[in-house]
Amino acid sequence: MFAESAVVGSVGDIGRVNAATVVRSLLRDGPIARTEVAERTGLTRATVTRATAKLIDMGIVVEGEPIRSFGRPMIPIDVRAEDRVVVSIHVGVTLTRIGLVDVRGRILQERKRLHVTTEPAGLVDDVCQVAREMLAEHAPDAEVIGVGASIGGWVDTESGVVVRYTPLGWSDVPLVTMIAERLHLPVLFDHMVRGMALSEMMFGSARDVGDFLQIYVGDVLGAASVDAGIIRRGPRGAAGSIDHLPVSGESTRTCSCGRRHCAQWLVTDRAVRDDAVALGLAGAGVTMDDLVASDDDGVLGLLDERARLLGEAVGLLIDFENPSLLLLAGPQTRRPGFLEAFRSGLSVRSDHGGDLDLPVRIAGFGDSTPTPASAALCLDAYYRDPIGYLTALRAPTVPPQEASTG
Ligand SMILES: [Zn+2]
Repeated sequence: MFAESAVVGSVGDIGRVNAATVVRSLLRDGPIARTEVAERTGLTRATVTRATAKLIDMGIVVEGEPIRSFGRPMIPIDVRAEDRVVVSIHVGVTLTRIGLVDVRGRILQERKRLHVTTEPAGLVDDVCQVAREMLAEHAPDAEVIGVGASIGGWVDTESGVVVRYTPLGWSDVPLVTMIAERLHLPVLFDHMVRGMALSEMMFGSARDVGDFLQIYVGDVLGAASVDAGIIRRGPRGAAGSIDHLPVSGESTRTCSCGRRHCAQWLVTDRAVRDDAVALGLAGAGVTMDDLVASDDDGVLGLLDERARLLGEAVGLLIDFENPSLLLLAGPQTRRPGFLEAFRSGLSVRSDHGGDLDLPVRIAGFGDSTPTPASAALCLDAYYRDPIGYLTALRAPTVPPQEASTG
């Protein structure tokens, strides 16, 4: 895949390694002066100056307006963001989000497209057509860095295949190849929750934290475990499923595993919506946004109960992982009473979740969380080796779609 084609390793690539260090420093702290980059990275001033010249030449870094203080004017440098765009695609249960995100992770445009079909080729055709329209309309002059694509379920990052995504009935769908063939761009692909963990490390709540546990609860449920800045994927990318964690409630549905106590049929948005309707608390077609905004005691009781059950399930993971930080994201987590109910569940089923005073943060980027999460998959590859990435992207002899799918 594209990211692996741009691996930095040999002695001759040391300039690229240094350049990547400079760019990541700017991503974090820019705009700052070259001297400050040297101080923060430990590189010599000469190395920073040399790397910056190459980075400016390639359009990865820009100089800002000189700032006059005492003595000589200081010229700040920063990552070039305004005309560098990533296409973000997140395939959800009922709709696909298509976004244009700049290289600072800021959403420039976002569209939600209801699935016109659940058949993979038809769905990807439609989504890619929308992406092309958005690029033509909103970023006609931008350099498109690539595509970050994500979905829930079981995702094999290495082969670019959706192994299984039950809500759409997909199995063994080569999503990366399908998107690359249509958009002629490198496609970086992973489970949405792992993209979310990456976006939190690059742009969000986990910038200072090397190990944390990311949990997402929406129409799907998922976890990403990060240790020393590395996200665990495991063989064929199957890590992170927490669908069958047992909780103390009983669902009206029997899970595919034959039980009725599995987290996925009690705490996901789908399950909560269905149960709200079944209990007469809401009408058919109610959305999670409607439920979260409700002040009805019955609805609030249901949401509190499900937040508590999620806390129980996550408590089991906390005892196993002992993370430094727990990040929670998803529509339900934005409700004012959510965290208190969640913590009460956590204390029931975790031996040390309560004792260690574990920091728990509601993370994500609101309703748009899947968009920067998907874009982060591409941006992670870009920032690991920006010179190598852009050299491969711009190479006239190797079309990027071959580099991405080969
Ligand atoms: Zn189950």
